[in-house]
Amino acid sequence: MKIAILPGDGIGTEIVREAVRVLDALELRYESETALVGGAAYEAHGHPLPDSTLQLAKDADAVLFGAVGDWKYDKLERQFRPEQAILGLRKHLGLFANFRPALCYEQLTHASSLKPELVAGLDILIIRELTGDIYFGQPRGRRTAVDGHFPGAEEAFDTMRYSRPEIERIAHVAFQAARKRNKKVTSVDKANVLETFQFWKDVVTEVHAQYPDVELQHMYVDNAAMQLVKAPKAFDVVVTGNMFGDILSDEAAMLTGSIGMLPSASLDKNGKGLYEPSHGSAPDIAGKGVANPLATILSVAMMLRFTLNQPAAADRIDTAVKAVLAAGLRTADIWSEGTTKVGTREMGDAVVAAITGKTITKTT
Ligand code: NAD
Repeated sequence: MKIAILPGDGIGTEIVREAVRVLDALELRYESETALVGGAAYEAHGHPLPDSTLQLAKDADAVLFGAVGDWKYDKLERQFRPEQAILGLRKHLGLFANFRPALCYEQLTHASSLKPELVAGLDILIIRELTGDIYFGQPRGRRTAVDGHFPGAEEAFDTMRYSRPEIERIAHVAFQAARKRNKKVTSVDKANVLETFQFWKDVVTEVHAQYPDVELQHMYVDNAAMQLVKAPKAFDVVVTGNMFGDILSDEAAMLTGSIGMLPSASLDKNGKGLYEPSHGSAPDIAGKGVANPLATILSVAMMLRFTLNQPAAADRIDTAVKAVLAAGLRTADIWSEGTTKVGTREMGDAVVAAITGKTITKTT
């Protein structure tokens, strides 16, 4: 097993460090190499995704990614901004299917901004198409941009586009995932306004003919945004395009209380994947040792399950995380009265201790 480790910027380095300690605690045999990505790579090599980092990611079986970005790069030309690294990795590695489970842990029901009864037991899966849509369309105006902005310009636009094969393959991924769950897919579109999404809806409906055992529902994105906060448990698998998926998956994340708890996987057609937390580099708390490392630790579990074929090891991580929460340990983002507040490092220590069978120590 060859793993490329790309911590990135901000809290990326802090949370990936803990995730790697957890991986090591499992005592599996694996090779790994670490490289710079995002703002850190821009500082060192003048590009957020240097060729050497991209090559490392291509040669690996799986990529463990932290997060990239910092407000200080907002003035850079778009191609040099840290976020371009993640877009580049998705594109060059063909990572078209993004899995973002939104799972509400029993102990964190009260961390949600929704009423506990709406989120207790929540287990939904957002599948976002990741290499098409308006994010990979043709932006106009780049040539006239100054410091990433368009002084004096009269217009700017981006084009939205999806091809039949792109929609077909993500629809298959969604129906197959639903077969292993509650057999219901909600395809989210904006077919009432956008041609691209009428096409999306038609193609998803055609693919559905091959999955008669799975229920298919179509929903406009504005309604989906509303239903996610009204009755989130009514969903099972949600499949949608790149932009709508970006927004809805963050919304679903917050249903569970903290974005710091949610892992994600981005897979290519052969199951090779990039694994990262659903959140960003959190510059507001970077360097303070308070970030929640659990989303990244749970991303390692997804990596073991989806790409490295080690489901038992993945289960050990999931069980350890539940044990740590049951013991009352919380980072600041999920802390509530009566629980014990811990930092990034202590949370990592606790998960490692749960895996190795040692006592989980509470720190105040
Ligand atoms: P963010 O996810 O970094 O932070 C949003 C809020 O959530 C902040 O208050 C932050 O402190 C908190 N938060 C995030 N992760 C946390 C964790 N593990 N533990 C505790 N609290 C956590 O989003 P943002 O502030 O909009 O963006 C910050 C930077 O991250 C930007 O440069 C953005 O472009 C980048 N970003 C990168 C990725 C990625 O690398 N895949 C994804 C999203 C945003």
